[in-house]
Amino acid sequence: MIRYALVTGGSRGIGRAICEKLAEEGFHLLINYRSEDAAAEETLQRVKALGADGELLKFDVADTAATQTALSSWAEAHPDAYIEVVVNNAGIRRDNLMVWMPAQDWSQVLNVTLGGFFNVTQPLLQPMLTHRRGRIINIVSLSGLKGLPGQTNYSAAKGGLIAATKALSQEVAKRGVTVNAIAPGFIATDMTADLEEKELKKQIPVGRFGKPEEVAALAAFLASDSAAYITGEVISINGGLY
Ligand code: NDP
Repeated sequence: MIRYALVTGGSRGIGRAICEKLAEEGFHLLINYRSEDAAAEETLQRVKALGADGELLKFDVADTAATQTALSSWAEAHPDAYIEVVVNNAGIRRDNLMVWMPAQDWSQVLNVTLGGFFNVTQPLLQPMLTHRRGRIINIVSLSGLKGLPGQTNYSAAKGGLIAATKALSQEVAKRGVTVNAIAPGFIATDMTADLEEKELKKQIPVGRFGKPEEVAALAAFLASDSAAYITGEVISINGGLY
């Protein structure tokens, strides 16, 4: 039986590393992304090079109708299959002090992170409950735990997703579905490419930014059978930075 895993924002950065790690674990990857076709194709090629298979699912997770269309078309084309693992990884930053923050930067960040979580996860829940096995893994952030200045929008979105993780985990636990969150600190990806790494890493006890592969290893563990008794948890991966 083919086991399917969907990774939102799977084309680059942390999402790409998670796709590769889940491919190593034998999953068939559904690689979601919004715009960068070449990056998504590169992820798919890497998944195939690892001996797994996958496909690209291009849609904007913040767009409820587009997400519904993409997921229902996939389900219709695969009547005997279901998506066993979903990693809600797609996310954006629109940093600014709140005093200067345009309303659209507030709503865009919330729409991708919180709206995206709902749009993608809600249609996948019933099949997971029916099959009595599912893994929902939400990529949040240190920002959502402590709140960071310049990121009132991003902190609100990630903090909201942490609360949603805890609530949903209790709704579905009896049916073999776990819901957990991973809270990375600074990870070296395009998202952090504009940051002053040399200065910031002085604050990190481990003394460096994390690697996407380090986050991916944790996601793969949470997706595994070994993690069946972990749910409603937020696991930090931040080199000791709190
Ligand atoms: P990147 O900016 O490197 O990659 C973002 C990915 O998300 C891309 O694949 C992008 O696709 C996709 N994406 C963005 N918006 C949408 C959307 N609306 N619909 C579908 N896909 C979308 O980010 P990272 O890999 O750094 O971050 C991944 C996750 O980890 C995010 O949720 C982020 O908030 C979180 N995180 C990252 C940290 C870091 O230090 N890097 C720290 C803490 C949390 P495309 O290119 O096609 O637009």
